[in-house]
Amino acid sequence: MVENKAYDVVVIGGGPAGMSAAFSAHQNGASVLIVEREYRLGGILNQCIHNGFGLHYLGEELTGPEYANVWVEKLKETNVDILLKSAVIKIEKLGTKKMQIFVENESGISKILCKAVVLSMGCRERPGPAINLCGDRPAGIFSAGEAQKIVNVHGKMVGKKVVILGSGDIGLIMARRMTLEGAKVLGVYEIQKTCGGLARNVSQCLNDFNIPLYLSTSIVKTVGNKRLTGVVVAPVKEDFSFDLTKQKLIKCDTLLLSVGLIPECELIDDFNLEQLRATGSVAVNEYKQTSVPEIFVCGNVLHVNDLVDNVTYEGLDAGKFSAKFSKSKLDTKQKIKLQFDEHFRYTIPTYVYKNNDDVTISFRSTKDFRKVKINAYSGGEVVATFFKPVVRAGILEKIVLNKSKLKDDLILKMEV
Ligand SMILES: Cc1cc2nc3c(=O)[nH]c(=O)nc-3n(C[C@H](O)[C@H](O)[C@H](O)COP(=O)(O)OP(=O)(O)OC[C@H]3O[C@@H](n4cnc5c(N)ncnc54)[C@H](O)[C@@H]3O)c2cc1C
Repeated sequence: MVENKAYDVVVIGGGPAGMSAAFSAHQNGASVLIVEREYRLGGILNQCIHNGFGLHYLGEELTGPEYANVWVEKLKETNVDILLKSAVIKIEKLGTKKMQIFVENESGISKILCKAVVLSMGCRERPGPAINLCGDRPAGIFSAGEAQKIVNVHGKMVGKKVVILGSGDIGLIMARRMTLEGAKVLGVYEIQKTCGGLARNVSQCLNDFNIPLYLSTSIVKTVGNKRLTGVVVAPVKEDFSFDLTKQKLIKCDTLLLSVGLIPECELIDDFNLEQLRATGSVAVNEYKQTSVPEIFVCGNVLHVNDLVDNVTYEGLDAGKFSAKFSKSKLDTKQKIKLQFDEHFRYTIPTYVYKNNDDVTISFRSTKDFRKVKINAYSGGEVVATFFKPVVRAGILEKIVLNKSKLKDDLILKMEV
């Protein structure tokens, strides 16, 4: 029983972000609890049975469950407490370094006290209504992640003739998965001019299986009575309206929606934290700490990540710094807001601290750019320059900046 105990750090969510955060907080001397609503740790990795996890962090490509297991084993070597089948339903701040977490499970609702909270609740998929998908609502329309769980975890097929809307990585991976399970994937339709997923997934999941990708094309409406019988597709114009003169019916029994992910951060709605519009989540400093100092955030609840490796690095940071915060060892003097020009969509972090350390800045660009030069300005002078052969809007990029030359500001500008 861990209910009513007090911890230095409580980690909410036991996916790769939460597991690495808990491990790192423990390594930095904190007493730690993970609260996970599922019956096992691993998060979304448990349903990702393809390989491609851990290439950067571990130097090898594992399947999702294998990658999760690496962290489950690491946690076994610690005294991190783990509360499974338990959902955090509320977080309250009682005072400085005094947080109260409300947990609901089979035993009812209990309260846990802690000095710092790490949020690692991941994200959820955007449903059809969120993209104004018109037409009938028969059986056969699934979100791609939902279909992935049904096929990979429950061992049931969702359909035979499949159309996929959205070319993010989940859509591409499901195109291959459905093909391998014997379905015919008629095409992946993408409203944007460029593919949303990683280049390696286009090659390995579509090209290798002759699955067509239709860019600047989307679904006008779904058709079917009890079961889906087709989707009407049409090209989209520059203003994203449909060119209905070229619409056509694609006969299919299944539609998988892979149309974006939303950080699952409703738990902190009451805190009025500084928001980051571009991510749909909150702004953090380089310690992954929010504008309420007791709350740290990492992984997909902070921003949607392409690679589990980045999620892991964020978790390691959030764990380390939440532990230091709980022991009053975090240097938070001389905060600088990181600004950027119109080529950037967002950066993580939003704030850095003036000292001699390195800081890793993750960012997404507004468009695809080639031969990019990024200058970091401070006090009106260039303090660092970075070169990138290609920067793609769909891919999270990183630069590592040494802060020793920083004055009182930091502006990133991209020459393209
Ligand atoms: C289909 C798919 C394919 C992918 N393929 C790859 C790939 O090939 N290579 C790669 O590197 N990356 C891949 N990724 C990306 C990577 O797996 C994810 O970015 C990463 O797993 C996200 O980790 P997370 O810990 O932030 O979130 P999650 O894994 O979603 O974990 C969040 C956890 O929080 C729990 N939770 C949420 N709310 C609460 C609450 N209130 N109380 C308690 N627990 C809660 C959830 O149950 C869940 O276990 C893929 C992702 C998907 C979805």
